[in-house]
Amino acid sequence: MSPDMPRDLTGLLTPSSIAVVGASATPGKIGHALFSNVAAFPGPVYGVNPSRSQILGRPCVPTVDDLPEPVALAIIAVPPADALRSLAACGRKGIRNAVVITAGFKEQGGEGIERERELVRIASQYGMNVLGPNSFGLISPRAGLNATFAPRGAFAGAIAFISQSGALGSAVLDWAWQNEVGLSFFVSLGNKAVLTETDFLPALARDRETVVIAAYLEGIEDGPEFVRIAGEVTREKPVLVLKAGATEVGARAASSHTGALAGSDRAYGAAFRRGGVLRVRSVEELLEAAVALSEQPLPRGRRLGIVSNAGGPAILAADAAAEQGLAVPPLSPPTVRSLAERFPTASTANPVDILADASADGFRDAVDLVLSDPGVDMGLVLTAPHPILTFAELARILAASHRKHGKPAVASFLAGELGEEAEKTLRAAGIPAYFEPARAVRALATLARYREIRDRPLPVRPPPAADRARVRVLLASGGPRLGVESLGLLAAYGIPIARGGLARSADEAAALAQDLGERVVLKVVAPEIVHKSDVGGVRIGVPAHEVRGAYREMVGLAPAVGVYVQELLPPGQEVIAGIVRDPTFGALVMFGLGGVFVEALGDVAFALAPLSAPEAEELVRGIRAFPLLAGARGRPPVYLAGLVAAVERISHLAAEFPEIAELDVNPILCYPDRVVAVDLRVTVSGAEGLPWGRGQP
Ligand code: ADP
Ligand code: MG
Repeated sequence: MSPDMPRDLTGLLTPSSIAVVGASATPGKIGHALFSNVAAFPGPVYGVNPSRSQILGRPCVPTVDDLPEPVALAIIAVPPADALRSLAACGRKGIRNAVVITAGFKEQGGEGIERERELVRIASQYGMNVLGPNSFGLISPRAGLNATFAPRGAFAGAIAFISQSGALGSAVLDWAWQNEVGLSFFVSLGNKAVLTETDFLPALARDRETVVIAAYLEGIEDGPEFVRIAGEVTREKPVLVLKAGATEVGARAASSHTGALAGSDRAYGAAFRRGGVLRVRSVEELLEAAVALSEQPLPRGRRLGIVSNAGGPAILAADAAAEQGLAVPPLSPPTVRSLAERFPTASTANPVDILADASADGFRDAVDLVLSDPGVDMGLVLTAPHPILTFAELARILAASHRKHGKPAVASFLAGELGEEAEKTLRAAGIPAYFEPARAVRALATLARYREIRDRPLPVRPPPAADRARVRVLLASGGPRLGVESLGLLAAYGIPIARGGLARSADEAAALAQDLGERVVLKVVAPEIVHKSDVGGVRIGVPAHEVRGAYREMVGLAPAVGVYVQELLPPGQEVIAGIVRDPTFGALVMFGLGGVFVEALGDVAFALAPLSAPEAEELVRGIRAFPLLAGARGRPPVYLAGLVAAVERISHLAAEFPEIAELDVNPILCYPDRVVAVDLRVTVSGAEGLPWGRGQP
């Protein structure tokens, strides 16, 4: 199927008629548990079972061929070989959607792999949407369909949940049931042989009832396509992803800093950022964020107003806000005045503390005043166990005021059993409530983050003016490894480089040095040497009359092509920019502080190439050490615009030349008025037969 044509999943997600292949009349069997669930579907349901004419009041036929109609959806739960035969029979019959619950495919290895290939072949022969195999099933609460063998289904609601793990999926179902959180769809992806996360995103984005898409994923099948579609979907609806396998270490032989620091998790992080996906780190966070996003309006900004009747929790919340990048600003003078009038003994700064004996009316007025402050974008109400106030009252107050002001409001109750009761009451009123203040703040921060994602400007990434022919020549001229002698590659892309040239004899070195000043820098050019300075292959500040002698010594270090003679630059802030390829997502750009600590500190940031100018700036600002570049502690700030432009250009180089497998520009020397690349390392591979494409579209 063409990747540009989203699949129509209507018949799968909201079928009009259903057949269950492997329906069983024997309690205790999966085929029975499954059929009991499906039998509750309000439309036509057929069992396919050779030894029954009826199960649970629904008609049964011996084979798929005997079905009286090509049903909208077939659910297949028979042993693997039968599953394939039945799937093919469904295809012949004109059934276009199937859920294959049967396991024993790719996940089993061996012949399971072959079986899965056969399944894919059948699906494409008949143009079928196949969910699974090894799927835990599908639930479509509005359609009244529970096509899983889970004992309980789901309430209809606003959260679509996609899970690559059946077990995690069933756990989430249970949690949602218990907490009375409704789902619009529940989809267990199984082995993703045919339908993947990428197919479901557009379908769920179109669904009117779905407000939030939440997913648990272990991998992504088509990286660039996922990023493209997520980029569109997240302008309409939030997409939350919990990605497992975050600690996996890429088993790659790295010949560059960028390669050593890249790993699949960095690539996923970069891809999620590019696609506007909200990445969460735990099941709990996934669910909490999903609930908050489904029930609350989005804040206009990041300014949080806190109302509490307890000092400690308020301080915890303010700390959490700082950590999550939310502001807890002073309230405006009119708000402060009104608060002081209404609560003469209270603390009217933000957090507002209306003291331990605050009444329900007091809370209502305080919340009302704080949320109506134009300088407050969202509210948090904190309370410890309280002698007078009932949680039901507080829930009503909060629900009413967040509706009135159109601003999100959440609550945190630091209490045991009482708190649980409060959470229930509040949740029923559409107010997320948490024990821990930090969790409440995290949920609000997610709302703010999504607001920024939704409203992000459309990126423009025009390719820069560049001498591409020259790049092609340089990449083809050397072996698989290029070094400082190929700095011209960067110059061809408009990145400023230090002046210099390659000398192949002592005389040439001396001649080059003449034009470069009193003192120069010499660098041995030897493909085998990775870090020149480690072996004495870089000499800084060599006087002109010593260049010949130095040349002779340096070419003896290793089988050398010659020595690169470069202008001597003053000390500057050293940064590194690099390129690496990820097998799933393609070209990545890296940025970090340069020098010897790059790998030790790992303070680097990655993004998918190519980058728009604002994306390049975000990447540069994304490292922890950015204050050093911005002029911390009396240092002059570096020429940020020049640095950003260099990074942006490197990202285009990455996207346009897939034969660059890895590239380090280390260092780029940064000064207040310019940036200059002084070293380069490139690993070139044959352009043909690469596992990656030409970078991101
Ligand atoms: P390598 O990374 O192979 O050791 P580099 O060319 O990066 O070699 O040089 C090592 C260090 O020498 C740089 O990090 C920088 O501090 C310094 N250096 C390199 N080139 C120059 C130059 N032209 N002017 C001043 N210092 C330089
Ligand atoms: Mg270097």
